[in-house]
Amino acid sequence: MFGRNAWSIGRLGGVELKIDPSWSFIAFLIGYSFFVVLDFRFDAIGTGVLIGLAGLMALAFFFCVLLHELAHAWVAQTRDVEVESITLFLFGGATKADLETEEPNDELTIAIVGPVTSLVLAGLFWLGAVGFGSGTVGGFVSGRLGWINLILAVFNLVPGFPLDGGRVLRSIIWKQTGNIARATRIAARAGQVVGFSIIALGALEILLLGALIGGLWMVAIGWFLAQAAQASFLQLQFRQILAEVPASRVMSNGVVEIAGDVTIQRAVDEYFMKHDHNAFPVRDGDQTVALLTLNAVRETPREQWSTTRVSEIAEPLSDSLIVAPSDHLDEVVGKLMGGDLRRVVVATDGEVSGVITPRDLSRWMQRTQELGLTESPAS
Ligand SMILES: [Zn+2]
Repeated sequence: MFGRNAWSIGRLGGVELKIDPSWSFIAFLIGYSFFVVLDFRFDAIGTGVLIGLAGLMALAFFFCVLLHELAHAWVAQTRDVEVESITLFLFGGATKADLETEEPNDELTIAIVGPVTSLVLAGLFWLGAVGFGSGTVGGFVSGRLGWINLILAVFNLVPGFPLDGGRVLRSIIWKQTGNIARATRIAARAGQVVGFSIIALGALEILLLGALIGGLWMVAIGWFLAQAAQASFLQLQFRQILAEVPASRVMSNGVVEIAGDVTIQRAVDEYFMKHDHNAFPVRDGDQTVALLTLNAVRETPREQWSTTRVSEIAEPLSDSLIVAPSDHLDEVVGKLMGGDLRRVVVATDGEVSGVITPRDLSRWMQRTQELGLTESPAS
C-alpha cells in the first residue's frame, strides 16, 4: 500500500530505510508549527535562530519515529522474523515483516515494542524538560518533543489494524482462534470503526467548535486509518487466495491448438481472427510444444506470412511457461511476472488443459470478491 514511490535513504542491519514522499509534507508542517509556537513564546531570540531550532525539532521528531520503527524491526529480527524495509509515511512509519515466519506471540511482542519505545522517549524528553527548567527554550523544546512522543505512543496503541494496537488485538484473537484470517478481519473492522469515529469527532469539532484546521486533521487521520484497515485486510485475503487456489480453477478452458506446420497466414485467418485469444498453443504430433502469440506474428514481416510456418516463430514451451493444474496461484503469478509473454500454459505431460493471462487472473479475483467467496464459510 505504501512505499511504492518511497525514496530509499540507506540500509541498517540488512533493513532498507525508506521515506514516502508524503513525509516531506508532514515534516514541513511539523517544522512550521514548531516555528509558530517558538515564535509566539520566544520572539526575542530572532527569526533565524528560531527557524533553525524548529528545523532541529522536526529532525528530532523524525529520529523518534525512526527509533519507534527500528524497535519493531530489531525485535522482529531477534525473533527470526524477516524484516524487509521500514517506510516513514504521512502519520508515522511502517515496518514490513514477513508474515509467514511469524507466530501470534511474535506479533504481539513486535507490535508492542514500538509504542513502548515512544513512551520511553516521552519520559526521557520529560526528564530533559525538568532538567532545563520551565520557561527556558531547552525546557520548552524538550517538553514539546515529549508530548509528541506520548501522542505517537497513544495513537499507535489504538486497537485498530494496521496500527500497533490493532496488531496486538489481532495477535490475541489469532492466538485464541488459531485463525489469522478471522483475527485480521476483526482487527481490521476495529480499525475501520476507529477511523470512522475519528472522522465523526473531526466533523463535530468543525461544526460545534468551528475549529476548521484541527477538525480537518482529524477527518484526514480517520480517513487514512479506515482506508489502511480495509486495504490491509484485502491484501491478506489476496495472499491467502494466491497460496490456496489451484491454477485449474482460474484458467480459461476451451483451448484451441494450432498444428506446427500451418502457415502464419492460415493461423491469422483461421485462428487469430476467429477466436477470442491472443495466443495459441502449438501442437507437434501428440505433444504441445510451443506457444504462438499475437506479438510473434506482428513481428514477422507481412510478405513472409504465407511462407513461414507457425513452428518457426512460436515460443518453445519451457518450464517458465508451464504450470501444473494443481499448482497454486502464487506460482502462476510468479511465472506471469517473470516471463515477457504475459501468459502461462496449464499442462500435464505435454497435454494442455488451459491458459492463464493476467486478465483471466484479475477477472477471477474480481468475481470472487463480488460474490463474497474470499473466505471459507467455516472461518
Ligand atoms: Zn509502530
